[in-house]
Amino acid sequence: MALTGTRRFQNYIDGEWVDASNGDTFESVSPANGETIGVFPKSGAEDVDRAVAAAKAAFEEWRLVPAPKRGEILFRFGQLLIEQKDDLTDLMTHEMGKVKAEAGGDVQEAIDMAYYMAGEGRRLFGQTTPSELRDKFNMSVRMPIGVVGAITPWNFPIAIPSWKMLPALVCGNTVVFKPATDTPLLGERFVELLDEAGLPKGVVNIVHGGGGAVGDRLVRHPDVPVITLTGSRETGVEVMRNAAEHLKHVHLELGGKNAIIVLDDADLELAVEGILWSAFGTSGQRCTAASRVIVQAGAYDALESKLVAAAERLRLGYGWEDDTDVGPVINKSALEKIHSYTEIGKDEGAKLLTGGEVATGNGLGDGYYYRPTIFGDVEPQMRIAQEEIFGPTTALIRVRDFDEAIRVSNGIKYGLSSSIFTRDVNKAFRAMRDLQAGITYINAGTIGAEVHLPFGGTKDTGNGHREAGQAALDVFTEWKSIYVDYSGKLQRAQIDTEEQPSP
Ligand code: NAD
Repeated sequence: MALTGTRRFQNYIDGEWVDASNGDTFESVSPANGETIGVFPKSGAEDVDRAVAAAKAAFEEWRLVPAPKRGEILFRFGQLLIEQKDDLTDLMTHEMGKVKAEAGGDVQEAIDMAYYMAGEGRRLFGQTTPSELRDKFNMSVRMPIGVVGAITPWNFPIAIPSWKMLPALVCGNTVVFKPATDTPLLGERFVELLDEAGLPKGVVNIVHGGGGAVGDRLVRHPDVPVITLTGSRETGVEVMRNAAEHLKHVHLELGGKNAIIVLDDADLELAVEGILWSAFGTSGQRCTAASRVIVQAGAYDALESKLVAAAERLRLGYGWEDDTDVGPVINKSALEKIHSYTEIGKDEGAKLLTGGEVATGNGLGDGYYYRPTIFGDVEPQMRIAQEEIFGPTTALIRVRDFDEAIRVSNGIKYGLSSSIFTRDVNKAFRAMRDLQAGITYINAGTIGAEVHLPFGGTKDTGNGHREAGQAALDVFTEWKSIYVDYSGKLQRAQIDTEEQPSP
């Protein structure tokens, strides 16, 4: 990677790159080895206000650009992402830390979303429907809403901005984007490419800075009618509360405590592969990570020994090296939080089977590495089985039968992803029906969403909206119902109905 070191980056407001008005800055530092990635504006309310004003003004023209033309810009953006895929992938291994294959997947998700939403420019379907009155035409159409405040986390630094901004844009909205402070350079690259793809000035703006100074200002700003946030449950609750005054559309994608169920009849080798990928991929820092594994008693011992052996073979290291399986976690406070849950698990009486410590050898001490950690004999109500740890830690829970497995899987406050390994088609279909989650996988781990299906969760994972797929359009549009009367006379609905023939 061409390291940028102490190079200073800026906000992008109304088509111009500018410093924060207060002149303050913060650094983006690699979690892999402590290298400085770049210096970014630590913005405040004034910068947010300027960006919102620019986006509000740009909306008046952007909403009138035909949707297929808006889609063509997204198509071009997808092409630019393909051209830049290797560079963005490499940058992500440095700035965020995930391993090369997963970083490439993160960029690919944005490419897929760009093409999908580009096509949506020629759909954005509404409905036509008969009128109850003669010589009258009825339809419903999707209308853009205005300025969207997009607030994102660091764990999918290219994919998540694409899930929010590309549907928002194709629908005719404008955007003020606040990326996470752990991954500002990836956020900035995303906006640079959107600009290069041909977005008019003011349509997308980026304001760097913290959740309080920048995020909260967006959330409370009267000229930002839509807030889309991916983050923790706690942030989601705060955002919803603070957005209430202006009755905003609030779209929340929050935490998870996802489980993989393994029944006695499962293909255990396949299950182990699925668990490894879901629990330790991205160092467990996915909202869909499998942080619980619910195992039927007959398979428990065999699964435990195979899984522990496989986890101990995983190689920790720099994400940019080919043979690395698990990269660092995002920062020091994440490392400390993850380790505190190891202590909590031990105190609760769970059996630490492997891991449970910070990894330091081979230069890893300059970054934030945690050994893949597995607890056995975990009870469903223990904190390590209830709370989101967001690290490479998973908990094995033993159950008697299918019904108990479903009960335990559902016995948490979140409802994002779920999974079951079984060869019994009847149980698989019952699981599809009974697992309380926005996503269910059969004979695969808890990870693997595709962009054309709705993504999101039930219960405390969100507030009923979905990202991706056609469902995303519901977040970024309002329905308008239109009645066209071509009878030439006043026809009153529910009153001037035609005589029914008598039976
Ligand atoms: P976070 O909640 O700390 O931060 C998310 C974003 O919100 C950041 O940009 C942050 O600056 C901003 N923010 C913080 N406080 C704010 C406030 N009061 N007002 C406005 N903005 C504010 O989350 P994180 O640590 O960046 O990400 C990890 C969390 O995200 C986990 O809980 C994970 O499960 C969740 N996540 C969910 C999904 C999903 O689709 N459901 C996907 C990825 C991550």
